[in-house]
Amino acid sequence: MAINGIQFQKGMSLAQFMKEYGTEAQCEEALVKARWPDGFRCPRCAHRLAYEFKRGATRYWQCKACRYQSSLRAGTVMEHGQLPLTTWFLAIYLMTQSKTNIAALALMRHLGVSWKAAWLLKHKLMEVMAQREADRPLEGCAGR
Ligand SMILES: [Zn+2]
Repeated sequence: MAINGIQFQKGMSLAQFMKEYGTEAQCEEALVKARWPDGFRCPRCAHRLAYEFKRGATRYWQCKACRYQSSLRAGTVMEHGQLPLTTWFLAIYLMTQSKTNIAALALMRHLGVSWKAAWLLKHKLMEVMAQREADRPLEGCAGR
């Protein structure tokens, strides 16, 4: 899952975060890099070449070998959400930078989303983070 690869430097300031991840395009670029650090790789056949196209606001990659279409959100916790990537990124930032467990209510206020959306974000991201710990138990905060 691409969002698994999203990690911010410890102690990154909010100002720095907004500079690097403040726009939808910046978040998208970060996700592309997290998903395919060495360039595109088809999730189905591992082919390396794809046609890129857009449908609405969504970017798609169609594998040149098997024609499988992937998008950044497909197969991730963000798949069914309508929330912009900037909201997901800010939620991750807030959740990973706070030493204590951030409350859904605080997320709601910081993100400007409904309580239900904040609660869902928090729980989905906690699952992702728990998964990340389980996958890489010996890796500390090596940065990006
Ligand atoms: Zn393919």
